[in-house]
Amino acid sequence: MSMRAAILEAYGKPLAVESIEIPDPDPDGIVVEVEACGICRSDWHAWQGHGEWADDQAPLGQVLGHEPAGVVSAVGEQVEGIEEGDRVAVPFNLGDGTCRHCVNGHGNVCADGLALGFEPEAPGAFGEFVHVPAAEYNAVSLPAGVDSIDMAALGCRYVTAFHALRHRAGVEAGEWVAVVGCGGVGLSAVQIATAFGASVVAVDIDEGKLDHAADLGAAATVNPTDVEAVPKAVRAATGDGAHVSMDALGRAETCRQATESLRRRGRHVQVGLTGSAERGSIPLPTDTMCQREIDFHGVRGMPPTRYDEILPLVERGRLDPGRLVTREVALEEVSERLTAMTDYETDGIEVVADF
Ligand SMILES: [Zn+2]
Ligand SMILES: [Zn+2]
Repeated sequence: MSMRAAILEAYGKPLAVESIEIPDPDPDGIVVEVEACGICRSDWHAWQGHGEWADDQAPLGQVLGHEPAGVVSAVGEQVEGIEEGDRVAVPFNLGDGTCRHCVNGHGNVCADGLALGFEPEAPGAFGEFVHVPAAEYNAVSLPAGVDSIDMAALGCRYVTAFHALRHRAGVEAGEWVAVVGCGGVGLSAVQIATAFGASVVAVDIDEGKLDHAADLGAAATVNPTDVEAVPKAVRAATGDGAHVSMDALGRAETCRQATESLRRRGRHVQVGLTGSAERGSIPLPTDTMCQREIDFHGVRGMPPTRYDEILPLVERGRLDPGRLVTREVALEEVSERLTAMTDYETDGIEVVADF
């Protein structure tokens, strides 16, 4: 049996939509019929061939796509508690479920983990079906009545923003959060931080994205092209600087704008990965960060074991990832949408919904 999938055949060239074999489940795996899969800037980085500086380059021949939600179509013989027909979301950071990081609740940094859609052992979800290894650990059951389109960002961007703010920075009600870069993950952070009772200053050079951030609850917006310096503008909006900052883009400029917008003892979360200009390294004013006791947290996805903190909030309408979805596209359109990301022309979260 074959299926259609979008394959990375050359960096920066259109993905090839081809017919490939439908996977069989490993004994501990499941196969999911994909209903929706978000298109993420990490797909764009993979498509550009970025990441070799962090031993993280997607190889040619890779099926991309790492934000799937769908219906279980086949179940491995050892898997318990998951049935055909169940609806699931799949985190891109797949854990083996057995190492000490996984058993201690940090499967997103599993020592033997796989990155769905970025390595040959884990073909991605820009295809009709996707295989999920160690499914009891990795697959996340979706509440009844929650739409797959709404859930398509839960494999990566939305949960990464949640993990960054909740578990890494420990955002509290009443705090100020500066979000620099209002693409999909930045806008997710705006919505989530606002739901936590924090106030957000959203920073972006695109007025449309700032309007979107304001719609999602941002208390203040800053356009770097209109101000003398972003940290100064954030300080003016927050009184004394932000308690928490996020670089949601991964450029030297945005990282420094974010960290320099913090008040003393502020916490920074680094969510964006760098591109070919920075190649994995950004210089920071570490002496000043020491003087002010600034925390710097790296962030990678979210542990699969902590989705039970987010799904009830989605079910009760306190969080609404579906509000970030601006466009549903077909598999053939992925390349065009990746090209649009090169010039930052996409808004919010775009989702493949037609395979
Ligand atoms: Zn592990
Ligand atoms: Zn992603």
